[in-house]
Amino acid sequence: MKTLRACFVTFLVAAGTYAAAPTLSSVLFAGQGSKAENAESAALKGFFGIQPIDAHIHIFKDDPELNALIERLDLRALNICVIDDRDPYGKGLEPQRTDVLKVRQSTRGRAAFCTTFSPYDFEEPGFSARAIRQLNQDFTNGAVAVKIYKVMGMEMKSKAGKWVMADDPAFEPIYQDIAAHNRTLVAHLGEPDSCWQAPNPASPDYDYYKEHLEEYAYAHPDWPSKAAILAARDHLVAVNPKLRVVGAHLGSMETNVDDIAQRLDRYPNFAVDMAARIPYFMLQPRDKVRAFLIKYQDRVLYATDLVVMPQAKTESALAEFRSTYERDWKFFSTSEIVEYMGHTYQGLALPRPVLKKLFHDNAVHWFPGILGRGQENARPANH
Ligand SMILES: [Zn+2]
Repeated sequence: MKTLRACFVTFLVAAGTYAAAPTLSSVLFAGQGSKAENAESAALKGFFGIQPIDAHIHIFKDDPELNALIERLDLRALNICVIDDRDPYGKGLEPQRTDVLKVRQSTRGRAAFCTTFSPYDFEEPGFSARAIRQLNQDFTNGAVAVKIYKVMGMEMKSKAGKWVMADDPAFEPIYQDIAAHNRTLVAHLGEPDSCWQAPNPASPDYDYYKEHLEEYAYAHPDWPSKAAILAARDHLVAVNPKLRVVGAHLGSMETNVDDIAQRLDRYPNFAVDMAARIPYFMLQPRDKVRAFLIKYQDRVLYATDLVVMPQAKTESALAEFRSTYERDWKFFSTSEIVEYMGHTYQGLALPRPVLKKLFHDNAVHWFPGILGRGQENARPANH
């Protein structure tokens, strides 16, 4: 589990420090099924009124109570598979794909399928043809996106001992195939800056790297620099102008919105999701972040990185979903105070049309097909 969790690094920290305290409503109403229907907090009501789409989530458990909450929140999500050979559940596409498809069916298409492919055998004959065959089957089966993962640039080496980056020519035919099928690439490449920096207890990721030294670049000075990893990412975006690329986790440019803006200006086929990096918005000057989100209101996707592993407990999953969405909605939609790691931050109070784009429209635009079937059952937006 530990490596798959790396993808969720800030979320896990958040679960301990930022989103941990269950709200009164989540305690009172967790697990009470339909009785909770009229009892969601005002924040959650505001959230579901915008027909939210969480553009980065990992639900691997078909849990009737969670599915009911998703329905009640009028939530849609991109449900993402991740292959990482250091993780028992994430070693291969199965059983993840089967689990994700089960959740899609049970949620009547609300949890859309984001597939992936194994990059590890990239030097074997027929690699890209095999990967393309598998992806095309997944597209036929409704996959709307394909994920690539930070093992490119931070784990994989060629037989000759060279680091393998995301723009390796071996992957290029795959990217072209994704573009040709009008699907989207979700690129989790690199990690937060703190992965390369000396331990700093004030960092949102401090506890994670303390416990996962094997993923802590600072402890492995031979690893590629973050700049090299992002340069490879930028190159892949530049040479595939017809491929939509969504950079997961603010495209690993979490500490300065100016860095994101620079890429968005340069690459019209690039957008970012904010999964597990919302705290980094809080840590930057409020006016600057607010101006960034207003200027780039078509290019940033609301996302959480919430995780529900097959063995997860229903009650804690429900509480996490509720507290995360309540907190995030409060931060983006109001000027109220939210607390994070002992500090308080004022919410961004973004205009309603901007919220609608961040929480709904941008996911529809960047992930064609994410509404899938069943959208006729969705509630009208509460403008
Ligand atoms: Zn993730």
